[in-house]
Amino acid sequence: MSKSHKGLNTICTHTGEIKDEQFQGAVSPIYLSSSYAFMDVDVKRYPRYFNTPNQEGLSKKIAALEKTEAGMIFGSGMAAVSTALLAFLRSGDHVVLQETLYGGTYNLVVEEFEKYGITYSFTEDLSEAAFAKAITPHTKVIYIETPSNPLMKVTDMKMVATLAKKHGIVTMIDNTFASPVNQNPADFGIDIILHSATKYMGGHSDICAGAIAASQEHMDRIWNLAKNLGGSLSDLTVWMLERSMKTMALRVKAQNRNAKKIAKWLDKKDEISRVYYPGLKSHPDYKLAKEQMSGFGGMMSFELVSHIDAEDFQKALQLIKPSMSLAGVESTMLCPAQTSHSLLGEEERAKQGIADGLIRFSVGIEEKADLMEDIDQALKAVLKKTVLVAD
Ligand SMILES: *Cc1c(COP(=O)(O)O)cnc(C)c1O
Repeated sequence: MSKSHKGLNTICTHTGEIKDEQFQGAVSPIYLSSSYAFMDVDVKRYPRYFNTPNQEGLSKKIAALEKTEAGMIFGSGMAAVSTALLAFLRSGDHVVLQETLYGGTYNLVVEEFEKYGITYSFTEDLSEAAFAKAITPHTKVIYIETPSNPLMKVTDMKMVATLAKKHGIVTMIDNTFASPVNQNPADFGIDIILHSATKYMGGHSDICAGAIAASQEHMDRIWNLAKNLGGSLSDLTVWMLERSMKTMALRVKAQNRNAKKIAKWLDKKDEISRVYYPGLKSHPDYKLAKEQMSGFGGMMSFELVSHIDAEDFQKALQLIKPSMSLAGVESTMLCPAQTSHSLLGEEERAKQGIADGLIRFSVGIEEKADLMEDIDQALKAVLKKTVLVAD
């Protein structure tokens, strides 16, 4: 069986592992050297060159998962995002970014790009017309993120890749929310695939890391800048990430199943006015999501009816943790208006459709009945409180 035909769980478990020649141990040894021989060797190894044995091994797993020629591991998702963008943009260049983006990426662009002489436009929406309209003769990169945070809007990857190719523009995607388990952008012609490995790849809320998958040619260009910026990941954490990724497909598929069932259940509840999950037929992008995703993911958002206070609801939860990050095996919730999108201001949030009662839900691997019971008891507790206050 050739390497490219291995199944998902086999890639997660084995691809890129380092054979323990000395003791025949079952898992990759950790190589912590920051100093390697330079004479009579093929590779000059150094952690900041992204080529220690553990970095190289895990990069192969990333590439195999995303079906690309090359992979790279970074010290954070933002190290991967910033290095990729700056590798393909120079003074005088323009980048088109989709309207909704991860907050850190948005901040990188609006706070930093001006001083490098890089101009940018955000699309008006996710339609082909909006992307086409944003392109200028200086556009070098189109950057997308799908499904996006927090309303799980879906961007048509094939449309974007085709449009970009017509203009000789490089495409980049933040594939964090879907993970390589649910979506492989390379299949649709996207050039450079970015991940916050802090999320589904790590999966246990205990690692901060990033990853890139791309062709060797594109990766060489990224590497040239990466070694100068220095955003490499410690080999101890590289090893922990390899360990976490062995169970990534198992975890993510369990999260897919939980999320789909819970989204359907929430959709029928009187206390919930709207559910945003790409796997619901009522989601405006359901058809597109079905075409380009093999699973709908573990992320969703829902809106509480106006008389339920989002903060009170989160405080009443007993099992589900109110927490900023996402994609761990444990379920977490946050209120974007109070956290990730608080800096936007009320008006801009309203424009983007982010209501005060919107809750973002990162569904974990717990038993779905326990998660539903927790939501139910929290709703009951706040409704009771509301009635008491009204009295
Ligand atoms: C968390 C996240 C990032 C940034 O990753 P860090 O590891 O925190 O640097 C980028 N994109 C998305 C979609 C994320 O959720």
